Amino acid sequence: MELDTIAAISTPMGEGAIGIVRISGDDAIAIADRLYKGRRTLTEADTHTINYGHIVDPKTEETIEEVMISVMHAPRTFTKENLVEINCHGGLVSVNRVLQMALNEGARLAEPGEFTKRAFLNGRIDLSQAEGVMDLIRAKTDRAMNVAMSQVEGRLSSRIQKLRQELLETVAHVEVNIDYPEYDAEEMTLDILKEKAGYVRDEINYLLQTAQQGKILREGLSTVIIGRPNVGKSSLLNSLVHENKAIVTDIPGTTRDVIEEYVNVRGVPLRLLDTAGIRETEDVVEKIGVERSRKLVSEAELVLLVLNNNESLTEEDEKLLTISEGRDSIIIVNKTDLESKLDMERVRELAGSRTVLTTSLLKDEGIDELEEAIKELFFEGDLDSGDMTYVSNSRHIALLNQASRTIDDALSSVDAGMPVDMVQIDITKAWELLGEVIGDSVNESLIDQLFSQFCLGK
Ligand code: GDP
Ligand code: ZN
Repeated sequence: MELDTIAAISTPMGEGAIGIVRISGDDAIAIADRLYKGRRTLTEADTHTINYGHIVDPKTEETIEEVMISVMHAPRTFTKENLVEINCHGGLVSVNRVLQMALNEGARLAEPGEFTKRAFLNGRIDLSQAEGVMDLIRAKTDRAMNVAMSQVEGRLSSRIQKLRQELLETVAHVEVNIDYPEYDAEEMTLDILKEKAGYVRDEINYLLQTAQQGKILREGLSTVIIGRPNVGKSSLLNSLVHENKAIVTDIPGTTRDVIEEYVNVRGVPLRLLDTAGIRETEDVVEKIGVERSRKLVSEAELVLLVLNNNESLTEEDEKLLTISEGRDSIIIVNKTDLESKLDMERVRELAGSRTVLTTSLLKDEGIDELEEAIKELFFEGDLDSGDMTYVSNSRHIALLNQASRTIDDALSSVDAGMPVDMVQIDITKAWELLGEVIGDSVNESLIDQLFSQFCLGK
């Protein structure tokens, strides 16, 4: 495959003391060399070395930048091509200028995700690893970072490979049966087929179970805070935001009518919905009312319902307890520093199996317990620690669902006494679907579309 040499700025735009211009392709080192003045030329430099020097405009001879340049020869690089990274100290202007000069010397401006795409095209990583890189760029919490990292390391890929291998062996058994009918192994073949295909289906379903958590890690858990005026919603929002590092989001297309804020609560990224409504004056909060709350509750994955310990339970409180029933919700009885006038027994009764916590947001009490409760709600069981092979990508989820259903079809066919070669078609189909997860059988336009989602310079 003959690919041209590409270049882009691979550090985030804007602030950042260091900016990196990355160049990849056959001519990467030669192009960088024409801009570089150092003790020796980059062409002479050994592979995997960092070289100190200056960028000098070849036309004007003007010194632009003091730089450190990494030189890496193919194939032991991220793209498997010659790769140069020019570390510039100056701000955006000089980084841009260095990029411009590289383009003048014959590099082409990289499309978004094109470096990673090359790594894929050149066989350095498979598709799920490439998608992992993309998630890594967007990861919102350490935990999400770990999930993306393990995907980059190929953990999902190797699990998928193993399952494909199982299916292949199953098909091979069926094959033998078709080729040597006199062998009369039909009975045994079907038994093996049921066992192996059943095993693969169960494994796929297990991976799918992790998808919900994976999605939360990637996209954040949509959370609403509801409660009557003056119970302490704004105070709760402020504590959550102040105690935890707010997460900045730069995902395109998230501008919508509800204002959102991200906070990282013990590894659970909360996407707090309608924070504008809560932050506004009490007049606005008054207007929110039960109907609005009902709508918010239906859209949220986590509901935080605040009650006032200092007042008796009102009809509105009871309604809020009812509409949040059956949802993942935590009931927070606030203002415990004040006299207790709330009928806790009634609250517990309406809360059912939901967690009821007490806080004094004024005195900063009870926040730890609340955070622990949030964490437990979403990382219960063994999924959070040991096994980090989360499926979090919606394309993977769709493919795994299809593969699981296809194997189900195959198993029903066996039970219905269908001819074995019919079964084989479904098993082969499932094998192909799993292949698509790791990019073994995907077409080119899908690949283009996937990689164009990457940030520029990756
Ligand atoms: P919201 O209307 O539900 O958003 O309630 P706010 O958070 O604006 O709080 C209403 C009032 O209650 C404010 O004056 C807060 O300072 C006060 N408040 C919030 N939490 C507590 C608490 O735990 N104890 C006491 N005594 N006052 C609180
Ligand atoms: Zn308020």
